[in-house]
Amino acid sequence: MLDVSESRYDRQERIWWWDQTRLLSSRVLVVGAGALGNEIVKNLVLTGVGVIDVVDMDTIEHSNLSRCAFFTDADQGRHKAEVLVEGAAALNPDVTLRAFTVPIQALGSGWVKQYDLVIAGLDNREARMWLNSACRRLGMFWIDGAIEGLQGLARVFGPDGPCYECTLSEADLANLGHRRSCALLKPEDLAMGRTPTNATSSSVVAGVEVQEGIKLLVGRPDLCSLIGKVWRFEGESMLTSVVEYVANPDCMAHDEVGELSVLAALPATLAAAAAEVSALLGENVVAIDLAEDLIHVESCPTCGEGSALLGLRSVLPLGAGVCAACGAERPMTARSSLTPDHVWATTPLESIGWTQSELVGFRTESRSTHVILSEAS
Ligand SMILES: [Zn+2]
Ligand SMILES: [Zn+2]
Repeated sequence: MLDVSESRYDRQERIWWWDQTRLLSSRVLVVGAGALGNEIVKNLVLTGVGVIDVVDMDTIEHSNLSRCAFFTDADQGRHKAEVLVEGAAALNPDVTLRAFTVPIQALGSGWVKQYDLVIAGLDNREARMWLNSACRRLGMFWIDGAIEGLQGLARVFGPDGPCYECTLSEADLANLGHRRSCALLKPEDLAMGRTPTNATSSSVVAGVEVQEGIKLLVGRPDLCSLIGKVWRFEGESMLTSVVEYVANPDCMAHDEVGELSVLAALPATLAAAAAEVSALLGENVVAIDLAEDLIHVESCPTCGEGSALLGLRSVLPLGAGVCAACGAERPMTARSSLTPDHVWATTPLESIGWTQSELVGFRTESRSTHVILSEAS
């Protein structure tokens, strides 16, 4: 028996509601390995959260070094997630860390299911919208944080009540929709901003995010004070406030996945998956519903360059809708729902721009189920 006074976690275990065993067996996904991500991961590792996966596709730039404790000059040009994971691992041998250097969207809408909690340190609304939709559909909590100058906010979104999308105005949503449809016509990501921030703002906000996260991880949502609410911090006046969000009854993100079925292996096509689900349900699948549009991009109509592409919207490369040779727009067709006999449903998944782990809905005349189509399932 280990003397509890000798435990590395002794001081935090003296907090009356603490549950270190549960924290050590928890799995958390951290989205974003920048200023907030560095602080979030540091706090989770010191706390002794058992498994921490970090996803960020960006590489380290000189201007990141003023706010990221795990990055040094020599790391410039390397992937943020990899450097963060390497550095943080040295802080606590009890913790397993992994880095994923792809956009969160490429991991897929079913990916987040394997975690107990998702904590975000993001700098753009597109990724927040995507994450919100995936977590909400799977009935999961996720925690958001944002910083600008000496201001910051932290908020917790749960399986019901207001979600991130509920906090956006009609104009915000219209603007986002427009940017999303333009993304395939522009070669570079316009989401990246150069907002003023500093190290202290990110540590304050990340600290609050992880503090609320720990309460959820130990199974005490009753102690979590920011579910469906936003905590705002203004670092010049030192004023803080908590405001409750209001759920939008018409919010598009509120269609929670009910029944979740499991297939033995990854089927070769969506049609094959539909056939398996039909056998499972004892009824024919009539429609396959995707979490986001599947898009077909034709070869260039002007010069004929570029082979046709089929892929999920967020997996297709930015600018895929524009001919690389002559700049003409390539015709695109988008669908989020297919019949099992549709040509895209009979195209091998291998040749579609697919994700690691995608949540797909299957409908019969009388019921529906969802399946996570992933390599590991
Ligand atoms: Zn909502
Ligand atoms: Zn062309």
